[in-house]
Amino acid sequence: MEQKGILIVISGFSGAGKGTLVKALLQKYDTYGLSISMTTRQPRAGEMDGREYFFVSKEKFEQVIAENGLVEYACYCDNYYGTPREYVEKQLAAGKNVILEIEIQGALKIKERFPESLLIFITPPNGDELKRRLEGRGTEDAEVIAKRLARAEEESEGIEAYDYIVINDDLEECVEEVHRLVDAARRVPIRRKELIREIREDLKKFKKGAN
Ligand code: 5GP
Repeated sequence: MEQKGILIVISGFSGAGKGTLVKALLQKYDTYGLSISMTTRQPRAGEMDGREYFFVSKEKFEQVIAENGLVEYACYCDNYYGTPREYVEKQLAAGKNVILEIEIQGALKIKERFPESLLIFITPPNGDELKRRLEGRGTEDAEVIAKRLARAEEESEGIEAYDYIVINDDLEECVEEVHRLVDAARRVPIRRKELIREIREDLKKFKKGAN
């Protein structure tokens, strides 16, 4: 029986390598779909509207909120970020595992609204490595990096809300580990309600007096 896809939330500190991980996962397996978020932050060099994000004004973002067009949204370092509803619903129905690469406030909202979602937290092996990666990226100035490190410290308080924590040290290993977790999660009974219902229905035929 065709199984509906699952909603996978991937979070991690800014600089944890989530973006690279998700890209590698999408390239290696065709069972995933990536939700493209909407944001009010400025595009970084090399980012394209509709590819990394849908870049919009604050007014437009607030209009989409009012129209109930987002499954969740949050404010992160002075900007809005949110997940458009339509794509997520379509892809799940088509059997794809939809990845949301979002921060913790959004992750918690997703868990509340979709209890069957799978929450994975990605972290570098330690704090120094995080700082090194953020500096090495060369896309943010020192002030923004300091803000993001401070935010990481706050976010670390919420890690226990996730189903799994995965260390991103070796990218290949990290990709495989996440894929295995998703594969296992798809076998958990709360995510197989339809199958269970069908088996039960089917077994009724053996009930005494049924035929
Ligand atoms: P960045 O500015 O580095 O692209 O993203 C900043 C943070 O916002 C990251 O932690 C990223 O995962 C998160 N983020 C991106 N899109 C969304 C979204 O749609 N909703 C929420 N809640 N967070 C998002």
